Amino acid sequence: VRALPATLRLLNQRRLLELILRVGDASRAELADAAGMSRPTAGKIVDELMAAGVVEEREASPGGGRLGRPGRRVRPEERTLRFLLIEVGVRRTRLAATPVGAAEDEPWTVSYATPHSEEGFVRHVVQARAALGLRRPWAFALSVPGVVDEEGGVSLYNPNLHWTEGTRLAARLQHALGIPGCMLQEIRTLARGHIAAVPEDRDFLLVDADEGLGAAAVLGGQVFQGALPVAGELGHTRIRDNPRRCGCGATGCAETLAARPGLLAAFRHATGRARAEWSELRDEAARDPGARWLAAALDPCADVVSGALNVLGLDRVVLTGAFADLPVSAIARLGDAISGGSLAARFGKIRVTTAPRRRARGLLAGIIDRLLIPTADWTAPCSPSLAA
Ligand SMILES: [Zn+2]
Repeated sequence: VRALPATLRLLNQRRLLELILRVGDASRAELADAAGMSRPTAGKIVDELMAAGVVEEREASPGGGRLGRPGRRVRPEERTLRFLLIEVGVRRTRLAATPVGAAEDEPWTVSYATPHSEEGFVRHVVQARAALGLRRPWAFALSVPGVVDEEGGVSLYNPNLHWTEGTRLAARLQHALGIPGCMLQEIRTLARGHIAAVPEDRDFLLVDADEGLGAAAVLGGQVFQGALPVAGELGHTRIRDNPRRCGCGATGCAETLAARPGLLAAFRHATGRARAEWSELRDEAARDPGARWLAAALDPCADVVSGALNVLGLDRVVLTGAFADLPVSAIARLGDAISGGSLAARFGKIRVTTAPRRRARGLLAGIIDRLLIPTADWTAPCSPSLAA
């Protein structure tokens, strides 16, 4: 296959920008060497990215810079707010405005109860955009729970937020805001955020629990998409003899046991304290990590996760959300249970750790991947015609 010059240029731009975003700070010569490009080629791309306001070049501060590396350094532009990030939660919707080089995990400045209709949702975002002081943003990204067709931009099935089903929220917002944008699935967004923050983690299953239980597989540094957009939906795997009804319409789903409401229900039932709070659950789990009610909720989840590891060929699990909120001893027990069902543990080690949710980083990574990098014209990053 003969690469057209324009395609080659695009690939080079992509490689260089990914590199800058990953290392955060480098000289032109270092970038050229790391990307395997000639210095004039790399230099020209850096000039283009700078003219577009995607990166900036600054004098390394004497004494504050890295040892033996004075001179000018290229880094992502981090002063101008460029993007609107939207997290659509089951209960609350949060918004943030970020520059290209945003490092914060929690930049959310606007938050409100998630509206119950598409019209209400669009109206709130348009109002919030003004409150965020975003004058001319380049693009937006929103994360949505449930089954999301990211390519087609449509929410297919959303057990905990039924009104979004069949909606094309990104297209509606694109129209209302006049900027391009994309809709991303919430757990895959967390996985993208984890890759951006911990680039050495290249193969893992991220499992998140909150109102629901879901996962996203990352293979070779890429989020696994699957033939259908249900990839990672392990929370809706049926657990035999579990009589609980699930929001998806089925009975016995794993998420009715191991997501936050299920855990709380099990704790309340076991203790007879009908109004017990999550903090009490955490204290009790710390006191007795082997408690029967906790094992009954988490062991089936561990089995489902082990099955996923066996199918995907993974030995690394990253737990986020409600899991990261449980005591270390309870997570250690869950890790042991996951290892117990994983073949890779027979001759190696399964590594199970908790991590913070990095949703904003993930949304930003999604924008850069889908809207910023495929552009052919750096004078107009995120041109709407390209994002359509
Ligand atoms: Zn279900």
